[in-house]
Amino acid sequence: MADNRVVQGRMVTPKRLAELIEGESVMDAEAIADADRECPDCGSDDVLTVGYMPGVTSFVTGYKCQDCDWAEREE
Ligand SMILES: [Zn+2]
Repeated sequence: MADNRVVQGRMVTPKRLAELIEGESVMDAEAIADADRECPDCGSDDVLTVGYMPGVTSFVTGYKCQDCDWAEREE
């Protein structure tokens, strides 16, 4: 699947990436895109963004560094 990306050496689907950011399972996730920002932890500009729904009523924009553990979520 073209939507899959490599994060910390592992291939992830949009849903799997959302679950890494959320820390638990999510209902649905949109396609992964490149975020226009740097990782504050390691300085890498390989930061991905994915929009996802943790539950029926909420939508979160998540960010995840491809090179380290850093992740952030914005509601
Ligand atoms: Zn990083």
